[in-house]
Amino acid sequence: MTIKTDKPIIFGNKPGTGRSVKTAFFHGLKKKCPQCGKGKLFNGYTKVKEACASCGLDYSGQQADDAPPYFTMLITGHLVIPIALEFKRHLDPPLGLQFLIWGIVMAVMIWLLLPITKGGLIGIQWANKMHGFSDTGKDETIYDLANNQTNETT
Ligand SMILES: [Zn+2]
Repeated sequence: MTIKTDKPIIFGNKPGTGRSVKTAFFHGLKKKCPQCGKGKLFNGYTKVKEACASCGLDYSGQQADDAPPYFTMLITGHLVIPIALEFKRHLDPPLGLQFLIWGIVMAVMIWLLLPITKGGLIGIQWANKMHGFSDTGKDETIYDLANNQTNETT
């Protein structure tokens, strides 16, 4: 699909929204509300609360879906695999021991990173008014920005 427009396609902060991608992203990484940075984002491990207890932001618009596990695996793999290969090259321990060590290391990293990446992604979604985080409650996509109209179908 090709989008033809005279207006620039905007990535990052939308002008005039008052929503900073950087601030919302870091609030999310700390598992806090992307808007105020005070209220908790999750109930338990990664279950998103219905709303912020501090500012009342409705979290139901988030659609992190499969992105947090994807980025968690991407980060974990890029950190652990090179270390595991160097470990194998220099020490060459038995294969069973390597599976045990790196299996545990990766499981712990994934367990620690998943809520952090999910929080960060929800922060980015909120800052860009994606999905249900727009002022109108409708999804505002890049296509909508380019055509300066709201998406009536979502
Ligand atoms: Zn809040």
